[in-house]
Amino acid sequence: MKREQISVFDIFKIGIGPSSSHTLGPWRAAQQFVHRLGYELTQVEGIKILLYGSLAKTGKGHGTDIAILLGLSGDDPVTFDVSAIDDKIADIKSSGQLLLGGSQEIAFNDSDDLLFLYLEQLPFHPNAVTFQALLANGRAVSETYYSIGGGFVVQEGATPGTGKSEVDLPFPIEHAADLLHWCLKTGLKISEVVLENELAWRCEADTKGGILNIFRVMRECIYRGCHTTGYLPGGLNVARRAASLNKRLIGNIPYQDYGEWVHAIRATGDSFKNTLDWVSCFALAVNEENASFGRVVTAPTNGAAGVVPAVLQYLIVFCDGFSDEKIIRFICTASEVGSIFKKGATLSAAMGGCQAEIGVSSAMAAAALTECLGGSQRQVLMAAEIAMEHHLGLTCDPIAGLVQVPCIERNTMGAIKAITASQLALQTNPDKAKVSLDAVVKTMWQTALDMNSKYKETSDGGLAINIPISLPEC
Ligand code: SF4
Repeated sequence: MKREQISVFDIFKIGIGPSSSHTLGPWRAAQQFVHRLGYELTQVEGIKILLYGSLAKTGKGHGTDIAILLGLSGDDPVTFDVSAIDDKIADIKSSGQLLLGGSQEIAFNDSDDLLFLYLEQLPFHPNAVTFQALLANGRAVSETYYSIGGGFVVQEGATPGTGKSEVDLPFPIEHAADLLHWCLKTGLKISEVVLENELAWRCEADTKGGILNIFRVMRECIYRGCHTTGYLPGGLNVARRAASLNKRLIGNIPYQDYGEWVHAIRATGDSFKNTLDWVSCFALAVNEENASFGRVVTAPTNGAAGVVPAVLQYLIVFCDGFSDEKIIRFICTASEVGSIFKKGATLSAAMGGCQAEIGVSSAMAAAALTECLGGSQRQVLMAAEIAMEHHLGLTCDPIAGLVQVPCIERNTMGAIKAITASQLALQTNPDKAKVSLDAVVKTMWQTALDMNSKYKETSDGGLAINIPISLPEC
């Protein structure tokens, strides 16, 4: 049986906020379209972009238009200077010119060429974008892409997958039961199974180096978010809270950098209330950065990018210290759980509501924490199951289509639930479990199918319609 092959670096991707499905995915789709043009790039005179379904309905708030213009301009979300976004977009709009692929100058009119089709939806997936390049010879090249969650993109007519070349994985995994089978057969921990599989794509040193780079971006994001004040963009006037919370919690303890900050946090004590406040602070910090078009790591999505780093930071600060090896184990375990949810259900809020984002990230973090705290492989899977079980049915209803309310606070909830789930699993004999991880994955998918589209990232229901807002005209 053919199984989807998902690497750690497919689940954890460095990018720019605020949304993996509505920002990073469309950005990648635009890059793919430019690449698809190939030698015809020099023939392009104009371009039309059509946004469908959820990309149309919440695309403005999620920065879909911005991401697409940057992708078409040949910029990359991993390396693009986030502080240059506003100027670059303003330049394209005021000049009426877009440098397609960074080299081909074409006329571009925002209101005529980038269309939000609020009432239209394509059947394959709610997040769809069509690009149409108009060539000098009168021909048009047109392609449709679907952003299927977590920054994954599928071109219409292509087989869904990660775009990587097919390899022979020593431990092919589709379900949690497969993973457990390999663990029990070999005695390997979940993170060790993952590392063995990663060897099929690259050497161990490159994998470990890449994972530590992922951690570096997460760490910098938390630290930046905990030291940046002000209001979030978008017009909702949401005040950033992580920096003031950090200041209040840390008091007068001095520090100069991330390493000293970790020691300073430890010095504030480990009472339940203090720990709870810090975990919330870490999660708020990441998602305030995400909402500000900052550099984040999808984990497994941008909207839920705060849960895994917050729980990892909790491990680093409040548990038994940390090492590179422990960080690698944490990220590998989290990624395998995310990959099981992607294969058996979805990572897309437009398909499954917020259970697909915060629910999955909480399950990933719970599993990773449990392995790092010495849980058995079955306890690790049990922790993931518990975390998701209590996110089932969680709706996605972002106010004004912005990834701010309820999204930012929701990351704090996902992180705390992950820690609770981990503790429960560590205190429980897995033989007594009534629900398996595979059963909860299946339940999540069935719930996703039953969920009304109002609660799937459309801003047509829930908080999005019950909170009065008045956004400035733009
Ligand atoms: S409500 Fe949840 S799924 Fe929806 S945008 Fe916010 S974080 Fe993402």
